[in-house]
Amino acid sequence: MNRAIGELPARCDVLVVGAGPAGSAAAQWLARAGRDVVLVDQHAFPRDKVCGDGLIADALRALDRLGVKDQVLAEARRSATLGCIGPRGGRIDVPGSLAVLPRKRLDEIVCRAAVAAGARMFAPLRFVAPLRENGRIVGAELEHDGVVRPVRAPWLVLATGAQPQAMLAAGLCERRAPSGIALRGYVRHPAMAERIAGLEVVWHKRLAPGYGWIFPCGDDLFNIGVGVASDGSGAARPGRPTPHLNLREAFAAFQSIYPPARALVEGGEWQGPPGEALKGAPLRCSLEGAQLEAAGVLVCGEAAGSTYALTGEGIGKAMETALHAAEAILAPGADEAAVRADYRARIETLRPRFALYAQAQRAVAHPWLVDLLVWSAQRSPRRLQRLAGVLEETYLPKDAMSVRGVLRRVFDRR
Ligand SMILES: Cc1cc2nc3c(=O)[nH]c(=O)nc-3n(C[C@H](O)[C@H](O)[C@H](O)COP(=O)(O)OP(=O)(O)OC[C@H]3O[C@@H](n4cnc5c(N)ncnc54)[C@H](O)[C@@H]3O)c2cc1C
Repeated sequence: MNRAIGELPARCDVLVVGAGPAGSAAAQWLARAGRDVVLVDQHAFPRDKVCGDGLIADALRALDRLGVKDQVLAEARRSATLGCIGPRGGRIDVPGSLAVLPRKRLDEIVCRAAVAAGARMFAPLRFVAPLRENGRIVGAELEHDGVVRPVRAPWLVLATGAQPQAMLAAGLCERRAPSGIALRGYVRHPAMAERIAGLEVVWHKRLAPGYGWIFPCGDDLFNIGVGVASDGSGAARPGRPTPHLNLREAFAAFQSIYPPARALVEGGEWQGPPGEALKGAPLRCSLEGAQLEAAGVLVCGEAAGSTYALTGEGIGKAMETALHAAEAILAPGADEAAVRADYRARIETLRPRFALYAQAQRAVAHPWLVDLLVWSAQRSPRRLQRLAGVLEETYLPKDAMSVRGVLRRVFDRR
């Protein structure tokens, strides 16, 4: 899958940097359409990525478009519910099409599909800086073993994820601080396999503004973790400390709040070397913190903030934004300005859903509100169905999940 760096061409049609779900999706789509695509990553593949590994409906749809959904589902642990547990312990199981597959394997499948479509993958190769000519980006400088090599391309697609270094080097990062951080580990615990059948997300005032999760991966393995938003808006604010920015404290709190988390941690077998079992990583949410495009470059995936606030789900929208970037580049007869405008317009169509999650993230700062929402959905199949529609993206409430909106919905007897 990783070609020898010596074979790196001096030019190509599209240079895609970052071979996570976003970069590999863009690379496949462009290569399928006959473009000469070079895909690079700073890590040789397969590589691990710190993640909850949960796939929601948008991810499954994107994987379907990329022709790998069946392969992913054949290896993934499927689930039909997302268990949402409120601060007082109330629980609803929101129906949905869900699956869990560790990222090392998921990303390998998506990347291999890009290579099978004709993209040339070079790794480990690090994006150092863009190449500029007449105020336009015309490719990139890529480094391996201390040697920097230029690759020229009419289009550069940056899909470098939540770490800001590449975006800073490209001059496209508007906010260095992430929207949040999260930490996860893998635990094997055969006795818990029946007890935790679906994905579970837990909100609690001791985790606010954040959450804990347990996602079953199959073979008695669980991905368990906690995430913390920098604040309710999805953007970090200097000088405003937040509770639990120490994620290990948040992880300890998760165990004391939620008995299944404690049972997993105390009775399970941790995977990975001692002391390294829990790993953290940043999140960039709500389509904020970065420029989406500039002359000669489109930014997609988490580099563009494509992860949802509230739940930290981002794999699906990373691929979706990448497919939009590829389609904008492929639009027949589009000049550079048209490609950039088309991409911006496509991303605009996604904003209402991101706004909904950002608003819900602000609402969980009021734990009583989450309890009320859970209580109300427990009593109304129609409300539960609406939450399922939000998860599946078949329904978008008009008045998003503000305090007022939730109260109106709870007391609306229709
Ligand atoms: C702890 C945690 C739990 C999460 N849980 C979930 C979940 O359960 N479900 C979900 O949908 N989302 C989850 N997310 C979010 C999800 O991980 C991201 O939304 C997703 O990985 C974004 O994909 P991407 O392709 O944009 O970026 P990434 O997957 O981060 O890929 C970016 C790639 O770019 C490469 N790269 C970076 N810089 C350079 C450079 N300078 N040169 C070359 N290559 C470079 C990296 O090596 C990497 O391979 C979670 C995130 C965290 C941190």
